[in-house]
Amino acid sequence: MTLHTIDNFIGGRLTPPANGSYFDGTDPATGAVYSRVADSADQDVAQAVVAAQNGFAAWSSTPARERANILLRLADLIGRNAKELAEAESIDSGKPVALAASVDIPRAQANFEFFATAILHESQGAWATDSRALNFELRQPLGVVACISPWNLPLYLVTWKLAPALAAGNSVIAKPSEVTPMTAHLLGELCNEAGLPAGALNIVHGLGAKAGAAIVEHPDIQAISFTGGTATGAAIARTAAPMFKKLTLELGGKNPNVIFADCDYDRMLDTTVRSSFSNQGQICLCGSRILVEESLYSRFIADFTERTAALVVGDPLEEGTDVGAVVSEQHFDKIMGHIEGARADGGRIVTGGRRAIVGGRCEDGWFIEPTVITDLDASCAANQEEIFGPVVTVGTFQTDEEALTLANGTEYGLASSIWTSDISRAHHMAAGIDAGVVWVNTWMLRDLRTPFGGVKSSGIGREGGFAALEFFTSQKSVTIEL
Ligand code: NAD
Repeated sequence: MTLHTIDNFIGGRLTPPANGSYFDGTDPATGAVYSRVADSADQDVAQAVVAAQNGFAAWSSTPARERANILLRLADLIGRNAKELAEAESIDSGKPVALAASVDIPRAQANFEFFATAILHESQGAWATDSRALNFELRQPLGVVACISPWNLPLYLVTWKLAPALAAGNSVIAKPSEVTPMTAHLLGELCNEAGLPAGALNIVHGLGAKAGAAIVEHPDIQAISFTGGTATGAAIARTAAPMFKKLTLELGGKNPNVIFADCDYDRMLDTTVRSSFSNQGQICLCGSRILVEESLYSRFIADFTERTAALVVGDPLEEGTDVGAVVSEQHFDKIMGHIEGARADGGRIVTGGRRAIVGGRCEDGWFIEPTVITDLDASCAANQEEIFGPVVTVGTFQTDEEALTLANGTEYGLASSIWTSDISRAHHMAAGIDAGVVWVNTWMLRDLRTPFGGVKSSGIGREGGFAALEFFTSQKSVTIEL
């Protein structure tokens, strides 16, 4: 396998790290090293900030129509290079290439399309105070902003942040996850091809505690849009808050999937298999705690177990694979530790629970059988802590109130699904669930205009749609006395 060198993208150029040091990037499906990744530090971040500052005047004063054209060209280039990007994303992360090709890459393209056109249609508030004054909101780009993103949906999540930041006229420092840097690396080249001016986007690769921390600490970075783990979010907030940086934190989840006996059963079952195990359960929005009304429980557990056991765990590059490798050896160990912990807490593993053996080139990869665990107390670790792997717990409830108590019984509040045919119950549950996202009889269906984000330990701030454009701009209040 070719060994790729992943350098920083600073001022429109691939730039080796100042200290000349690199770490290995590993393909989780094979365990083989396939890249050397820039191990950036303070100097690289400082260099990227200077490039971003130099690029800001030109980019922020580029008319919205021209910014939109450049970002639309970039979206188009993502579409044209979709196959190569999907393969890179699969090798980086272990996810099935079919998933990368059908979800991650098209959504990355859609992010640029959406925000490129949104800036042409957004409105800003204006208020007349009798005939005495005119007040209006003046939105301006913030300057240099940072986008720090995780490994689970690499290109999709980095572009989810970059697209509104750039569309609003900011210069951006992006820090993709050190575990999955490849697609962001390819994006840099596409930015040049699309005509994005040098310095508008700078990509710094490296470790969170080094390159990431240097970004958060840099005094000239005005805002940080972060997606990742809750503990990392708390550490970032501790540094950024006293510096009064604008901050949005999209963090972990322990999402309930609440299933009532009156639901459309077949649709629920199909979707629940997907919402549990898509991307090996490594989507922050996956439903990891399934709560089933008691009268439906035995039917559900029999069918769900059968469907789960039938999922094909295999080589991510093969078309028929449902479940690929988890992202790293370290993450594999963490997930397996959770499974052992659940066993020790009295959980019954009804299917899965072991390392999955995938032969051929994937012999040494990190694969886990999709796992369903029952008979656990709501307070145990497997029901409280984010596992972020192909592992779900299944429990029961008798009443709507009990369902709500269980659904809300963790520190998290990211997403939830409710399955019922009763419209009043759906409204009652949607209002009562402590989660930033509520799906009724569906999962992962989103309109990009909708604000997105969690509550409780799942984060602060809202991304997506016009909320993201608002985040990446100042809202100055201007009053003119007439
Ligand atoms: P992580 O917190 O370890 O890392 C996320 C990013 O932050 C990486 O780029 C990392 O290098 C960087 N980072 C780490 N420490 C840092 C520090 N001290 N300062 C600055 N940057 C730092 O998360 P992960 O393991 O990459 O991703 C998995 C987590 O992300 C899960 O908890 C998942 O729920 C969460 N997630 C949340 C959402 C959401 O929308 N809420 C979406 C996807 C993933």
